[in-house]
Amino acid sequence: MSDLPSAAERFGPYDERDMIRYTIFKYQSDLLTNIESHAQGLYMLRFKAQNSPFAELREKRFREVRGVPDDPRIDEALALGWEEFQKRVTHRILAECPEKLDLNRCPVCRKIVLTPQARWCMWCHHDWH
Ligand SMILES: [Zn+2]
Repeated sequence: MSDLPSAAERFGPYDERDMIRYTIFKYQSDLLTNIESHAQGLYMLRFKAQNSPFAELREKRFREVRGVPDDPRIDEALALGWEEFQKRVTHRILAECPEKLDLNRCPVCRKIVLTPQARWCMWCHHDWH
């Protein structure tokens, strides 16, 4: 076998909530509300521009181009940090529309696998190609 890092090395022990959060933000960002979507965009921009002397200018331009409204809820959503933001979005989606989540589960161990198209389980190594 190859020496690919195991799932536990990459993600830590299996955590259902964590895998749902990962799936939402990587593959199902269409489930985010407009405010959440703008908050995510701004967070990414600020992260990339954090050491730039033009950070403020870039944000102004970004807001114009993306049509980000001057809505305090956007900054409020990020006030407690990126991790907390992601947790809250995940919590909301699970409470409001869990049926919209498209979770690809391993047929053997029922854990959520890495991608929506995966046919291999990184947790139990079952292969259903
Ligand atoms: Zn499995």
